[in-house]
Amino acid sequence: MGKFFVTTPIYYVNDVPHIGHAYTTIAADVLARYHRLMGDDVFFLTGTDEHGQNIERIAREKGISEKEYCDLIVAQFKQLWQMLDMSNDYFVRTTDERHVVAVQKFARALLDSGDVYRGQYRGWYCPRCEAFFEAEELLSENLCPIHKRPCEWTEEDNYFFALSRYQDRLYHLIAETGFVRPEIRRNELLGVLREGLQDFSISRERVRWGVPLPDDPKQVLYVWVDALLNYITAIGYGDDQETFRRYWPANVQLMAKEIIRFHCLYWPAMLMAVGLPVPQMVFAHGWLTKDGQKLSKTTGNIIDPFDLVRRFGSDAVRYFFLREGAFGADWDYTDAAFIRRYNADLANDLGNLLNRTVQMVVRYFGGAVPAPAGAEEAVDRQLLDLASGLGAAIEHALDQVALQEVLVLAGNLVVEANKYVQLTTPWELAKARKGGDARAGERLATVLYNLVDVLRLLGYCLEPVMPRKAPELLAQLGLDPATRPNWTQGTTVGVYPAGTTVKPGQVLFPRYEVE
Ligand SMILES: [Zn+2]
Repeated sequence: MGKFFVTTPIYYVNDVPHIGHAYTTIAADVLARYHRLMGDDVFFLTGTDEHGQNIERIAREKGISEKEYCDLIVAQFKQLWQMLDMSNDYFVRTTDERHVVAVQKFARALLDSGDVYRGQYRGWYCPRCEAFFEAEELLSENLCPIHKRPCEWTEEDNYFFALSRYQDRLYHLIAETGFVRPEIRRNELLGVLREGLQDFSISRERVRWGVPLPDDPKQVLYVWVDALLNYITAIGYGDDQETFRRYWPANVQLMAKEIIRFHCLYWPAMLMAVGLPVPQMVFAHGWLTKDGQKLSKTTGNIIDPFDLVRRFGSDAVRYFFLREGAFGADWDYTDAAFIRRYNADLANDLGNLLNRTVQMVVRYFGGAVPAPAGAEEAVDRQLLDLASGLGAAIEHALDQVALQEVLVLAGNLVVEANKYVQLTTPWELAKARKGGDARAGERLATVLYNLVDVLRLLGYCLEPVMPRKAPELLAQLGLDPATRPNWTQGTTVGVYPAGTTVKPGQVLFPRYEVE
């Protein structure tokens, strides 16, 4: 039992939420829900990044105020998180007064740290990235390598943070601790460190929509610095020391791989500068493609999370994105793969297992789950051994943020349980029992009890991924999903209360027929 603070990046409101945002946030939600089940004191944070020149520009184009524009986009993020059953404890916005005040406190501490100096910035600036580029990073004709639009040659007086002074400490943090996962991202950062770190400018003179520096209100804080600080302002930095101490440092900070430099170099160095501990782990997941092509709004190659939830339900979407590709790797999405996995894993393997088990309890025992009877057989032991190891195996996978592995483990138990039905042939046992075979009657009771008990354990272990369907599954087994056992009890085999009456219900995952 401990505390568990998990974060997503705060998402930039330059556009409506897309599948990348959903992917990271689903993963964070699943981690948060598992840790709550395990009895941890959990804080799950997400939110939106709303400052910067980009937002100024978009609002101006739309003829509304920056705040009005942000509110419109934020409403869509909140709607998607509701549709996807996100259980975040807080939603931080960088335009929140509380955030702004705390950011200024941090900026003051940073200015006092001795690691900030005034200097002149000259460089190529992409207003869309809100970032400066080295000349050699630009494409031909000074185009931004990301947006392929012209960068502007910019000269202005800024405040700089002496990142270069943190070279050795960051090298140690990244090379010798579990700070960055997965391994491929650690190697990438070590490469950056070997080239030597450059100081970076933490303020902007040309930007208006942001947090003014405490002593120099003509400068606003660089939007990335402002954004990174959400992880501490949201839990009380600067105004609620008790909550801040309770949750900081973060246990896991999740994000897509393109923003690890900010999170693994700038962020820990700034924390070190003001004497705060660094996060325990930064985990970067990979990129999705669709049909082998890069996702792009321009070409229309998109995966619409709103549409997927409407068609398949939140649980299926949450399941698919964590199960299909390894968390941390790049992988390809196809509609066909989604439908195949939905029908095979959910409708067929898990849904049918529940359905046929409940039906057999009704048919052979009038709906009351029998107590196991007679001697245990090897086939029983094989299933129960796998089931009783599931809880510990899930814990281990979660420590590694191996979310696909969690679902592979649960899926293996589903497959094993279906195999158990084939091997024990309860319908044959029922026939033999009818013919007066008492031994067959005992076997039938044991087999059905074991199936119900394994389904209970699966329902319990899958609830963080399927917060709607898992309680439905447990309800069909006659259990009250509201009375939750603790993790140890929930993952123990043989604790289903025999004699309980099952409650057959709707098909858990109706088969999806392709039109
Ligand atoms: Zn750009």
